[in-house]
Amino acid sequence: MNTGTSASTATDTSTRGRKPRRIAIFGSTGSIGTQALDVIRENPDLFEASILTAHSNAALLIEQAIRHRPHTVVLVEERGLAEVREALLPRGIEVMSGPDALEEAAAHPDYDMMLASIVGFAGLKPTLKAVETRRPIALANKETLVVAGDIVMRRAVEGRVPIIPVDSEHSAIFQCLVGETHNRIEKLILTASGGPFLGRKPNFLVNVRKEHALQHPNWSMGAKITIDSATLMNKGLEMIEARWLFNVDPSRIQVVVHPQSIIHSMVQFEDGSIKAQMGLPDMKLPIQYALAYPERIPNAFPRYDFTRSATLNFEPPDVRTFRNLALATDAMFKGGNAPAVLNAANEIAVYGFLRNRIGFLDMTDMIERTLAHVPFVERPTLDDYFESDGEARNFAASLINL
Ligand code: NAD
Ligand code: MG
Repeated sequence: MNTGTSASTATDTSTRGRKPRRIAIFGSTGSIGTQALDVIRENPDLFEASILTAHSNAALLIEQAIRHRPHTVVLVEERGLAEVREALLPRGIEVMSGPDALEEAAAHPDYDMMLASIVGFAGLKPTLKAVETRRPIALANKETLVVAGDIVMRRAVEGRVPIIPVDSEHSAIFQCLVGETHNRIEKLILTASGGPFLGRKPNFLVNVRKEHALQHPNWSMGAKITIDSATLMNKGLEMIEARWLFNVDPSRIQVVVHPQSIIHSMVQFEDGSIKAQMGLPDMKLPIQYALAYPERIPNAFPRYDFTRSATLNFEPPDVRTFRNLALATDAMFKGGNAPAVLNAANEIAVYGFLRNRIGFLDMTDMIERTLAHVPFVERPTLDDYFESDGEARNFAASLINL
């Protein structure tokens, strides 16, 4: 287990008997961000929201700030800024905007933990800034680790900055690893729901529209991750996320489809013993666990009842149909800038699909062509990752005339 995520480095973040932990929510208007604010509201003795950031939803940002009274908010897009200022400045809330505002806010001295819940590559810079300023991170933004996981984790370990996963699979693995610091991991088993098109074949998928793809059976999430779940790219990104977060060789990561999403993931140890973390699928649980780490806090969420529905199924993923998972697996094994290129191409592909510019299966072709086009860099620097991201984005966008 990587020391960046080990229990011993994070004990100073204890919540009990202290002032509320001050949380900076990067991406407060999203699915994870709004659920985190629910958790904070339900536990006012433990948490307060100190910084809130949004991309463009000014109305929701204002509403959240009036309710939670952060000292600072960021609205990335300048449109809507006048309203935010008018509503919040008289309340003594600092309002920031513009291209560097996220990093500036991440460097603000007055918060204790960042919840990194921006979607996509845009989350990388502010998260790196939190690492640099030695703030523990509750990490939902998996793309940060997909793109530059080696650098982010190295810096976190060097700075002794705890990174506590929020992604449910990684939270599950993290929980299975508590108390196992010195025991070697034989295998990480990531569970996948299979998404809304489990069991479907390409002749069905070719006609899928975004309205179908946005209906996830078990989880209600932001649009990008919902499409990623339908294509299984999400599980591919999660394999790469796990590889860095837990410092394991790619050959030790396995994906298994488990449609009920009750087992959130598993760890197999050297003695063959397998530990699983289970519960009803509800993102508030891993969010709450990360915010309160290392403590568990009580809640009134519904419980899984073994006496009512005790059927749990498992099957291998169909990587011939859901080729995004195969592409992501290849990129993980190839390493270098391949995952960064994969991620950038995927972000453009999902954007194109959500705007009805390309079909469901075209997303995979775009990613494959972009991976073939962008030159491979074996040992990228951070600048190389940014360059590869830009190059991949431009090439992928050119394929669909964006
Ligand atoms: P979302 O689309 O609902 O919200 C995204 C948030 O990021 C919003 O607050 C938005 O304002 C902000 N944002 C978007 N683009 C931005 C940009 N360019 N600059 C600054 N801010 C920007 O997404 P989500 O579903 O909450 O997912 C957030 C992250 O958490 C993703 O990386 C996702 O993979 C991960 N995650 C989400 C879930 C879930 O259940 N939603 C589960 C596991 C992991
Ligand atoms: Mg997940």
